[in-house]
Amino acid sequence: MSDCLFCRIVAGEIPATIVHETDRVLAFRDIAPQAPVHVVVIPKEHWADIAVLAANDRDLAGELLDEVTQVAADEGLGDGFRIVFNTGPDGGQTVEHVHAHLLGGRGMAWPPG
Ligand code: AMP
Ligand code: ZN
Repeated sequence: MSDCLFCRIVAGEIPATIVHETDRVLAFRDIAPQAPVHVVVIPKEHWADIAVLAANDRDLAGELLDEVTQVAADEGLGDGFRIVFNTGPDGGQTVEHVHAHLLGGRGMAWPPG
C-alpha cells in the first residue's frame, strides 16, 4: 500500500533505524520512544491490525512474536519487557499496519507501584 507509512519504511522510501529484519518481518526504533528501548516490529506484508493478521496468517503472526522476543534478547531486556498491539481507534492505533511495540529498559509495571 503506497500510502501506508510502514509499507513505505519497508520499501525504503522513508528512513528508519532498523535493528533487525528477516525476509518477512522488520524491527526498527520508534521515532518517539516511550521507554529507553522502544522498537516497532512489523510484518513486511500489509495487514491492518493484529486481529486481522492472526485471523488470516497465523504463521506470520507467530514470526512477528518470534522477532519481538529475539529483539528483546538482543536489546538486553532479560529482566522483562512489554509488548503492546494498539488495535483500532479505541486502542489508540494511529498507523493502520499491524505493529508490535517492544518497550523496556525501565520498570514497565502497570499499574505502577
Ligand atoms: P500506534 O499509535 O500504535 O499506531 O503507533 C505508531 C507508532 O509509530 C508511534 O509510536 C510513532 O511514534 C511511530 N512512528 C511514526 N512514524 C515513525 C517513523 N517514521 N519511524 C519510526 N516510528 C514511527
Ligand atoms: Zn502497510
